[in-house]
Amino acid sequence: MYLKSLTLRGFKSFASATTLNFEPGITCVVGPNGSGKSNVVDALSWVMGEQGAKTLRGGKMEDVIFAGTTGRAPLGRAEVSLTIDNTDGALPIEYTEVTISRTMFRSGGSEYAINGNPARLLDVQELLSDSGIGREMHVIVGQGQLDTILQATPEVRRGFIEEAAGVLKHRKRKEKALRKLDATQVNLDRLADLVAEIR
Ligand code: ATP
Repeated sequence: MYLKSLTLRGFKSFASATTLNFEPGITCVVGPNGSGKSNVVDALSWVMGEQGAKTLRGGKMEDVIFAGTTGRAPLGRAEVSLTIDNTDGALPIEYTEVTISRTMFRSGGSEYAINGNPARLLDVQELLSDSGIGREMHVIVGQGQLDTILQATPEVRRGFIEEAAGVLKHRKRKEKALRKLDATQVNLDRLADLVAEIR
């Protein structure tokens, strides 16, 4: 599995449709300060479902939509599509190529699609959750984040390592299972009360 291409349209400084094609291996993006290198990385996080405006270096979510320049009017929507090569079947879906798209309108709300079919954020998160990429998985290390990791307490640092090792998804599943167990216990208690009342 590898990232094959990324298309941005109306996302941050990328007003016109721009496609970046990646090959397997290492890709370097070079350019002058302020030319949009970090915006490309923001687009990657965003299309995979990032919900935090701060993580995307903005004040509010709509800040990802092209805000206009002296020569070009602002746009009403941002769109990003990420195509992943899935010939090794790393993503649990019957396609050798998977395109995840996210669109946001200035009026608010995000729409997602997987291979052109409308999808929910949860579908995108579940599709990516076992692959080692996706939100909260520390696959994207932002500028200054290395300092944070180096200065973190041993407990916090262990958290980063656990997440990188793929423990996060199991912890989340455990939390979900414990919540279900709690809910079941409440139902059992209620049932015991009812049985006691009937007797
Ligand atoms: P550096 O090397 O300094 O880190 P960079 O190449 O990573 O720079 P970015 O931070 O990706 O640059 O891009 C910053 C540019 O993107 C700024 O010129 C900013 O005005 C522009 N920009 C950010 N959001 C928007 C938006 N919503 N609409 C238009 N332009 C935007």
